[in-house]
Amino acid sequence: MGEQKSAADARASQGFSTRAIHAGYEPDPLTGAVNVPIYASSTFAQDGVGVMRDGFEYARTGNPTRRPLEANLAAVESGTFGRAFASGMGAIAAVFLSLLSSGDEVLLLGPLYGGTRGLLEDMLPRFGVTARSVTDEQLAEAVAPNTRMIYVESPTNPNLSIHDLANVATVARRHGIVSVADSTFATPILTRPIEFGIDLVVHSATKYLGGHGDLLGGVVAGSLELLEPVRMEGLRHLGATLDPHVAFLLLRGMRTLHLRMAAHCSNAREVADALRGQPGVSAVYYPGFEDHPGHALAARQMSDFGGMVSVEFSAGLPAATAFLESLKTFDHGVSLGDVASLACHPASTTHQLLPVEMLEAEGVTAGLVRLSVGIEDPADLVEDVLQAARAAALVEVVA
Ligand code: PLP
Repeated sequence: MGEQKSAADARASQGFSTRAIHAGYEPDPLTGAVNVPIYASSTFAQDGVGVMRDGFEYARTGNPTRRPLEANLAAVESGTFGRAFASGMGAIAAVFLSLLSSGDEVLLLGPLYGGTRGLLEDMLPRFGVTARSVTDEQLAEAVAPNTRMIYVESPTNPNLSIHDLANVATVARRHGIVSVADSTFATPILTRPIEFGIDLVVHSATKYLGGHGDLLGGVVAGSLELLEPVRMEGLRHLGATLDPHVAFLLLRGMRTLHLRMAAHCSNAREVADALRGQPGVSAVYYPGFEDHPGHALAARQMSDFGGMVSVEFSAGLPAATAFLESLKTFDHGVSLGDVASLACHPASTTHQLLPVEMLEAEGVTAGLVRLSVGIEDPADLVEDVLQAARAAALVEVVA
């Protein structure tokens, strides 16, 4: 852990791109290789009984390719420490199971990614941990004697609502409880929750951090005090360990995150602008629109409005289906944050396990399509969504 702290300290005054490109890297002491070698080893020879060489014992808890990645993630999130996991859900589950006990309650500001919601509302209650959904306005009064954590996602998946991270941090600190933010949609280039006082930030690194749709990974960044139990229990006992080959790919992804995010953000604006007001489109969710309810907050806590846009068709599922089936440049599939554009239908995929009433109440309707806008030529993306929207509008006329 000591190396992570000194690396993070040394980089703290540098700009984001410099940190993302250099933090965690040292030329390899054996060969001088400037990139981090892939250490494909499940175990490490010990120097004596109970004496580990450089802190490595068994790759489930530590690996020399993962360590520089973790230092890099800590530096870009303005945290002191970082931990990498095999997936976003691996990271999120490790946080909950390491820091919560039977009888504890989590307050959540959602809507959350369906997997996180399922874990909190279906699985954890079987182990005595409960979850309660609150709004930003209710939060200050909502903390109960058994509340141990506030969990927030911003922007939210899939409706792109914005939550007030500084408010979450203030309430959590006042009550001495832990605040956790899933910042997957924002990435550390747009928002660094720790700078708003949030204790732990989690990511599905599968998305923008990896950035090329070719890996699964998860991240937790924050203080040593909170991350040590997450490592000792969440990583060691649950075992969602990031493979060193994937750690290498993630390190490489981090080096272009700032460039990719700039292109994702500007393309998303063009796509959102183009879809707005099209026949049959009842809503376009994009925090960059001045009339988006979270716009002012997003402008304060994000440096740009992100690469995600959701579009709702008034004719519901048939129109959403026609739109998805007509897209040519956007691939039709779940996930997001890939350089290639992706479109999905959240109600039947990412959020399918949640009850219909809950989905409708939170705006995850049958007519909603989520777009992860890639970094292709913007004119091609605009043309693609417009021709697909015309196909969707025809459905409405027929129906
Ligand atoms: N958090 C958010 C906001 C997500 O969108 C996802 C996946 O889509 C996850 C967490 C889970 O991440 P993973 O799929 O890497 O387990």
